[in-house]
Amino acid sequence: MESVFKIENVNLFYGNKQALKNINLDLYKNQVTAFIGPSGCGKSTLLRCLNRMNDLIEGCKVEGSILYENQNISQMNTLELRRKVGMVFQNPNPFPMSIFDNIAYGPRCQGIKKKETLKNIVVESLKKAALYDEVKDRLKESAMGLSGGQQQRLCIARCIAMQPDVILMDEPTSALDPIATLKIEELIHELKKDYTIIIVTHNMQQATRVSDYTAFFMLGEVIECDKTMDLFSQPKNKKTEDYITGRFG
Ligand code: ADP
Repeated sequence: MESVFKIENVNLFYGNKQALKNINLDLYKNQVTAFIGPSGCGKSTLLRCLNRMNDLIEGCKVEGSILYENQNISQMNTLELRRKVGMVFQNPNPFPMSIFDNIAYGPRCQGIKKKETLKNIVVESLKKAALYDEVKDRLKESAMGLSGGQQQRLCIARCIAMQPDVILMDEPTSALDPIATLKIEELIHELKKDYTIIIVTHNMQQATRVSDYTAFFMLGEVIECDKTMDLFSQPKNKKTEDYITGRFG
């Protein structure tokens, strides 16, 4: 299996507080990897390392190396890295502008001006995010009028419009109702044909539904990472077993 990311001996500190401890992990191409574990164990922190969002946090220091397609990300241009490694957050965060403009925003920033090209990008991105049919007659209306689930799919479409290779998702359904959650989970299944997906979830059922691989975190360490089926059916580590059987956390 081809790795997109190779994480090697990563330690991360917020000031004096160590939030990640000696992380070694491979993330595979066109697979969905879920990060699970109790709250505060470093899942989001590691996710944010992958496109260097932690650079924006003062006092945050990262040691070790993270290779993206065999390139050390510390040597990459952050704009280029973040274009290739897009991110979707816990709370849908559309820009206060029309549905069309939300998705055209990134491509426009990259200098694409032709109406026809932009329109194609918007339509294709909305289709890939399974939102097009619901919004095709209201592309000029504000994105703020969409439901929470639609807003989250819009944010996924906005990410897709930048033609990323990887999509990072930080608890993307925790603000959504069960039906909107199911739609996003179905969408993740579709998206993995074209993208590598890393998803942080506090919901173990969600990890079993959407992911191929699961990494279990505890207190800043990756305790175990394996095929999701194997991790949940025959965990190798006692801590993983205790967590997934609900004895702890
Ligand atoms: P999780 O995603 O597993 O809930 P986080 O990665 O958010 O965990 O947090 C890991 C640890 O790092 C926690 O102890 C948290 O308090 C701390 N932390 C997270 N973000 C920051 C920050 N910006 N500044 C200082 N500490 C932080």
